[in-house]
Amino acid sequence: MRYSGRIFDGEHFHEKAEMEVNESTGEIEYVEETKNSDKDYDGLTFLPGLIDVHTHFFGTPTRSLMDWILTSDVLLTLRSYQDAQKLLNGGFTTIRTLGDKVSLDMGKAEKIGMIKSPRIISAGFSLAETGGDDDPKMFTPEVARELSYSYYCDGPWECRKAVRMNLRKGAEVIKAYASRSFVGGGLIKEEFTVEELSAIADEAHRAHIKATAHAYGKDAITNTIDANFDSVEHGLELTEDHVNKMVHKGMYYVPTLSVYKVKRTDVNHYRDAMIKTHLEKDIQLAYSSGVKIAAGTDYVGSDDEPHGQNYREAVYISEVVGPLDALKSITSVAADCVGRSDIGRLMRGKKADFIAVRGDPMQDVSLLRPENVVLVVKNGKVEKNTLNH
Ligand SMILES: [Zn+2]
Repeated sequence: MRYSGRIFDGEHFHEKAEMEVNESTGEIEYVEETKNSDKDYDGLTFLPGLIDVHTHFFGTPTRSLMDWILTSDVLLTLRSYQDAQKLLNGGFTTIRTLGDKVSLDMGKAEKIGMIKSPRIISAGFSLAETGGDDDPKMFTPEVARELSYSYYCDGPWECRKAVRMNLRKGAEVIKAYASRSFVGGGLIKEEFTVEELSAIADEAHRAHIKATAHAYGKDAITNTIDANFDSVEHGLELTEDHVNKMVHKGMYYVPTLSVYKVKRTDVNHYRDAMIKTHLEKDIQLAYSSGVKIAAGTDYVGSDDEPHGQNYREAVYISEVVGPLDALKSITSVAADCVGRSDIGRLMRGKKADFIAVRGDPMQDVSLLRPENVVLVVKNGKVEKNTLNH
């Protein structure tokens, strides 16, 4: 099957180009510029399937730890399945989930073609220290452990074992909490010692998968870098020293701007100031220093962080880095960040994961919004086509 139009191959724009897809292999045969100016291009732009490198399938309308841990797995799965369809409909052909109860099995179902869903690179359970933010302390430790989407582990060997438990279940990335969040309302405490974090990253790397860490605050980012993680998630309070080391180590920065754009009703001056700096300075510092920035929303599927609207991250990133680098952050750079060389670019031999949108997203990145995504193809198979409607 041949597609023609304006093509963004993940790195460059081709104003008039053709792409040949081999449906039997599900791969791209070639993308090449064409001189034929008589062709009707319909004003479409083809892009690699979008990738969100930081999501969760929490499957509840609310953003509440209690709901996340107490809702039955069946209901979580059904709601998350709806979210998966919304993501695919919005042009996301791959997502990475960083800690929840159901995405690992949903990923297995997607792999064998059972469900309509983006490809899911799942962390399985997240790793956290005992007593962290998401450890529900109104329960006894035993009950909390039973209900949680995290493995609570302390000491390098327990941490290694938690990684191995995830690997046993089929996790394809490891996620650790290198700090708490704003839940406590006060100063952010880092989680895990560097020794523990190093054990986690090393165990992931021994299995040839990536390790990534949630890091709020200077110290947590420093620990994440020193422990040789592959990326920093959130990364609030980024410093000059951090970015120099990150460039040197080839680490990725996932600023998750979308989650900080959500209006919160409670008052927390400390949080608000930290977020303001994050939105205005952290990403600017990362970008100007040459740190690779990947798009991840941290959306959980709640009413105020709805799956399907994940294109917003590219819009927010574009406000700092411009449209071209924002489009890379949600395609080719995202693929590099999750360690998948077979996706994220429209080139010979890559998986035929691509979308078409009306208009030119270089002029307006918000053209990636779901209503404007008219074609979604994953593995060479058409998942959405509203072109003739
Ligand atoms: Zn998250």
